[in-house]
Amino acid sequence: MPGPGALPTGGRAVAGAELLQALRGAGRPRPAPVPGLDRRLREILEAGIGEELASLPAGVVVRATKGTLEEVGRCEAGMVARLAARATMPASAEMVAGSLLDRVFALVVIGRPAADPVGAALEMADAEADTGLLASWSSLVPEERALATQLVTEMAGSLAAHWPALPHQALPRLQEPLRVSLGGGRVLLTGRVDLLLGRPAAERAGVTLIDTKSGHPRHQDRADAWWYAVLETLRHRVPPFQVGSYYLRTGWLDLATVEADHLLAAAEDIARALLQLVRLAAGALPQLSPNPLCGWCPALPGCAPGRAYSLERGDYLPPRDDDDDDGADDGDDDGR
Ligand code: SF4
Repeated sequence: MPGPGALPTGGRAVAGAELLQALRGAGRPRPAPVPGLDRRLREILEAGIGEELASLPAGVVVRATKGTLEEVGRCEAGMVARLAARATMPASAEMVAGSLLDRVFALVVIGRPAADPVGAALEMADAEADTGLLASWSSLVPEERALATQLVTEMAGSLAAHWPALPHQALPRLQEPLRVSLGGGRVLLTGRVDLLLGRPAAERAGVTLIDTKSGHPRHQDRADAWWYAVLETLRHRVPPFQVGSYYLRTGWLDLATVEADHLLAAAEDIARALLQLVRLAAGALPQLSPNPLCGWCPALPGCAPGRAYSLERGDYLPPRDDDDDDGADDGDDDGR
């Protein structure tokens, strides 16, 4: 999902009272309500998948998340390969650290930062019966656990130093699930928002929606935030006031006011990606779209277009699927 091209970009490090003011949207004009905006968004999404739904096999439900939409927009075949690989791929230290940090963030937001953030996050996971996270933590070798602990501890320290105490009127809601059904239930859009502040109201946009990031800023982060904005608008039938990302490593906040035009552009992007997902679920052959992330694609060893693209960029190339096991030079023209 490329994200609306017209969206503003930006962000900067903010902390304490200044961060609280930004989360409140102090000094930022609130967009006037646009009657029927939620209906228009739904029409765009339903129209995008419309006729293709008839080709879905009986009983098949297409589930879309921000991750699958991003991946299918980049390369359909790459998304299919990643889904298959993920089923057997062990969790990395960075992935586990990201999941632990979701819980550390929750503790800080409710005013209970922990001296031992990893231990506190694992306790929360245990209390919530999050067996996936507990199993992922257990699967890490000692070096990976040390790396995950280092990442979590560093970011927890930065977070505790930067994040303001929230007044109770802020009504913080953490890890709130969002779910939108389209096409009579044949397509489900799901997400989980890290933090929602404020109360939705038809007469005055009132909600700030924050997606926390443990990694470095990416262009895609904007599209992620707008994905949540579209889901939130469909859920409450009124748009949030502002959406964006908070970067745990640096204390950067990148917030944008939710204008109707941006929401509509985001819905158009989502609709295009949904159509791809529905076609694939209906049995269409996945298309190959070489891109800068081919180097991280599990299909790369057997993907000629991806290899050619990566070779042109000078990226690392793994052995081809049909390379000899004995490692003898077979004249592979990529020379790597
Ligand atoms: S290597 Fe690139 S082109 Fe090939 S499937 Fe993966 S992402 Fe697509």
